[in-house]
Amino acid sequence: MENCIFCKIINGEIPSNKVYEDEKVLAFKDINPIAPVHILVIPKKHYESIIDIQDNEMEIVAHIHKIINKIADDMNFKEDGFRIVNNCGENAGQEVKHIHYHIIGGKTLNWP
Ligand code: C5P
Repeated sequence: MENCIFCKIINGEIPSNKVYEDEKVLAFKDINPIAPVHILVIPKKHYESIIDIQDNEMEIVAHIHKIINKIADDMNFKEDGFRIVNNCGENAGQEVKHIHYHIIGGKTLNWP
């Protein structure tokens, strides 16, 4: 989508530090990490948020979670734990309007 920063990362117009890529998703290091490990996982198809994903397209959400699981394994997070965050809309403070899942870990995390 035009003017979407994450679409520009997907098509290579903006560089990123890639962690994983396949035909459906891209994972890359967050430019402003809040923990020792901070990775974003995004679908290559543009959706603003979960609200835009139709019932018959939900397979992509399962695929994203499958890749999150793989990355957690690669990072050796499965014993100590980690956090998955998806900010959805204004009240959640979603800055980039292309759905993305944060993988945050490598330290003890506070909540909220
Ligand atoms: O969930 P939210 O929309 O607030 O998060 C957007 C995230 O995208 C931020 O953590 C920000 O650092 C990251 N970002 C990035 N590379 C960009 C622009 C934003 O990693 N070029």
